[in-house]
Amino acid sequence: MSQASTQKYEDAQTETITTTQQRWEDLRQQIADGLHSTHCRANSNTTKTLETASFLYALIELLSESDLISVEALDERKRQVIKRLKRRYEDDRMGVLLQNPQLDKYSFDRTAQIDCENRVHLCKTSCCRLPFALSEQDLEERVVHWNLAIPYMIEQREDGYCVHVDKCTQACSIYEQRPMPCRGYDCRNDKRIWLDFENRIPNPAVERSDWLQFISENSAE
Ligand code: SF4
Repeated sequence: MSQASTQKYEDAQTETITTTQQRWEDLRQQIADGLHSTHCRANSNTTKTLETASFLYALIELLSESDLISVEALDERKRQVIKRLKRRYEDDRMGVLLQNPQLDKYSFDRTAQIDCENRVHLCKTSCCRLPFALSEQDLEERVVHWNLAIPYMIEQREDGYCVHVDKCTQACSIYEQRPMPCRGYDCRNDKRIWLDFENRIPNPAVERSDWLQFISENSAE
């Protein structure tokens, strides 16, 4: 091997090592972010739970001693309040997000028949930018990646696309194991993507890199 070839080989080796190190560093950072997020939530939840429990037990004891409430009435009201609070907790991401209901994705056979290949230049494959929670089935398979910082939401790239979508071809790299929402989603009436599906008029916002955020901020007005 000539000196130039040896140098080229060594440079290539160095580049490979640097890329591998960078990948490990990115992975380590993701895990650290995920753990940090988990610890913060756990700590915050524990503090709130302790505070709430002390307050409630004190209140119930006082009310019960004064014959102002019955256990039956308390249980019934508790069921109603839980329903109300559950939604708020989910919005605040205080719990783990999982698909609900949990369905067997391999039994699902009602996938919408859409000519995606003739439309991706218009819709920008925006269906692959939609966030969703995975199922226990997905987690057990260990094929689909979830966002370590927001368990168990699908992992998305910085550009908002699912990590399993090929950047060049837009093809799904885990098609056979793709999650239930990918199988069941139907874009035809989703105005975030199509203003008029039949006439192939996309929502102009799909051109934006912050498409989903833009849509949700503007529809909230
Ligand atoms: S948004 Fe609709 S048309 Fe476009 S790739 Fe997704 S499913 Fe196909």
